[in-house]
Amino acid sequence: MVLDVRGPIHRLRRWARGGVGKVRRYYLSHFDHEYMERMKAMREGDCHRCGYCCRIFFQCPHLDGENHCTIYDRRYLQCRTFPIDHRDLSELAGICGYQFNPSAAALVRRQMAEGVHPPREA
Ligand code: SF4
Ligand code: SF4
Repeated sequence: MVLDVRGPIHRLRRWARGGVGKVRRYYLSHFDHEYMERMKAMREGDCHRCGYCCRIFFQCPHLDGENHCTIYDRRYLQCRTFPIDHRDLSELAGICGYQFNPSAAALVRRQMAEGVHPPREA
């Protein structure tokens, strides 16, 4: 008998990716304001309160049985900013009510890598 470990390995990789994503979101939300502003401008759609993002890596203890956040008015900065970009959406297999224009998002990342800053408003 051959043991098929692809399923558990896939789940483990997804779980680990969720952990990395959490750290990444914490960092970006708190320290990279320019990227946050640019990506926010690219974000379309709306939150339909499905609660899936509250189950990434682990189920948040503030999520109640009806997918409501029990500290909604005081929720963490990285909860307020989710999803920051398409990488966050990839952790949810496309379930989220938000989306990003992929070519616009790629342009933002390229401009930032090249040090191109958006024009300041007068
Ligand atoms: S604090 Fe609220 S919004 Fe943030 S992950 Fe937990 S349940 Fe979700
Ligand atoms: S996964 Fe998206 S739609 Fe669902 S609660 Fe989180 S931000 Fe809202």
